[in-house]
Amino acid sequence: MTRTCIIGAGLTGLIHAWRAHQNGERVTILEAASVPGGVLQSRRVEGYLLDYGANTLSVRNQEVIEILNTFGLLDRAMDANPSANNRFIVRQGKLIALPHSLSSFITSPFLSLAGKLRLLGEPFIPAGKNRDESVADFISRRLGKEALDYAGNPFLSGVYAAKPESLSIRHAFPALLELEQTHGSIFKGMLKSRKKPGRLPKARLLSFPDGMQELPRQIVNLLPNDSLKLDTKVVQIERLEKHWHIITDNRSHDREEESYDQLICTLPSHQVNEIEWLGLRETQLIGQLSDAVHYPLALVYHGYDREQVSHPLNGFGFLVPEMENRQILGTLFSSTIFSGRAPENKVLLTTFVGGERQPDLAELDDPSIHDLVQAEHAELLETNGSPSFRKIVRWPKAIPLPDHNMGKRKEAAKVLQNQNPGLRFSGSHLCGPALPSCLQADIV
Ligand SMILES: Cc1cc2nc3c(=O)[nH]c(=O)nc-3n(C[C@H](O)[C@H](O)[C@H](O)COP(=O)(O)OP(=O)(O)OC[C@H]3O[C@@H](n4cnc5c(N)ncnc54)[C@H](O)[C@@H]3O)c2cc1C
Repeated sequence: MTRTCIIGAGLTGLIHAWRAHQNGERVTILEAASVPGGVLQSRRVEGYLLDYGANTLSVRNQEVIEILNTFGLLDRAMDANPSANNRFIVRQGKLIALPHSLSSFITSPFLSLAGKLRLLGEPFIPAGKNRDESVADFISRRLGKEALDYAGNPFLSGVYAAKPESLSIRHAFPALLELEQTHGSIFKGMLKSRKKPGRLPKARLLSFPDGMQELPRQIVNLLPNDSLKLDTKVVQIERLEKHWHIITDNRSHDREEESYDQLICTLPSHQVNEIEWLGLRETQLIGQLSDAVHYPLALVYHGYDREQVSHPLNGFGFLVPEMENRQILGTLFSSTIFSGRAPENKVLLTTFVGGERQPDLAELDDPSIHDLVQAEHAELLETNGSPSFRKIVRWPKAIPLPDHNMGKRKEAAKVLQNQNPGLRFSGSHLCGPALPSCLQADIV
């Protein structure tokens, strides 16, 4: 029986472990932390359910639905409450609802009249020739500068905690580039591909009653009992003639060694070069694989009594365009999106601070971060007084950017795999960070 070692028990590692198990391989997953799931951690604290990493799983295609079904998770999945369809942006210090119909588009002040006319002109803009454009250039060329400032910029800080100037359209949104190249226009392409086989008629926004951590936990439940080794940090990997020799450190710093026929490394980019690689062909490419850019992010959870917040919180949350010069990237109305997130008569707000726009803010001390979030909410949501519940979770290296170097990283992984049979790489820095990309993660 082939002995396969998976390094990392985040969602990507667990998906590969499950596939290898299905393939009849003997699987061992080595995980440095004391729980599986990587960044997918959920906790119940003082009656609030907090997701420390991903808060929502956005599903657009049937394949992801089938993967969830295979894991027995479709019955557990909770759809977001219908009011989460409303989304807000900040414009001139006020929350503005984004339009979701033609009539609301016409009346909404989210763009000026000139900005709306420019957006509607998209089908008449010729397709570009530069496939290496940044997301900022792509959006402003196709939709106009105002749409970039008041839609693209806040949206990308919400998804990647990054600026559109730093992201590559080819790697961050290949589907949009494809629509432009195939149909000559994003809008025309969207209309034509609405009925594409496998595409859900309406995207679903999902989570689980015990939070996003249910996803990795359930995959672990489907694997043989002895396959997951927690508190086991891989420190050295040596390529030998017929197998791979791995040295690990456990929590009491005892070293263990084991050999495997093949291994799949699913570590975050910045942790790939923390391992000592011995006997690897083209070993210099490990540096290239480890160069993904990540910005620090603080997730700030504030719980209020319902009557302390004047805003109806009738939506998914709000995002802040950079032009607005505020100190937060955006806030999720967590207790509106999914039921069961806050005790009765309380509301939970989850706010993102830092990212590429303001990395220093993510590194402030706890009281300063709480104060700045509270002050922003007092102005934007008309909150009164202090939250009765407060917590901060910090991600010093949050999300790997799908930037112009992503192509080089994929190329480095391919060469390393070709030159070192039995070794494979996967993970959000190669396949993209969104959960559906991890669920469908392939070897590059
Ligand atoms: C704050 C935040 C919010 C997010 N929000 C969303 C969202 O709302 N929707 C969405 O779709 N996506 C979201 N994402 C992205 C998504 O959650 C991640 O891209 C995805 O979970 C990454 O999974 P992974 O398995 O590739 O990596 P990870 O989860 O990072 O797993 C890697 C694992 O490797 C382990 N490891 C590291 N070094 C070693 C070693 N030497 N030996 C053994 N093990 C090791 C780590 O402990 C970890 O468990 C968010 C991410 C973050 C950080």
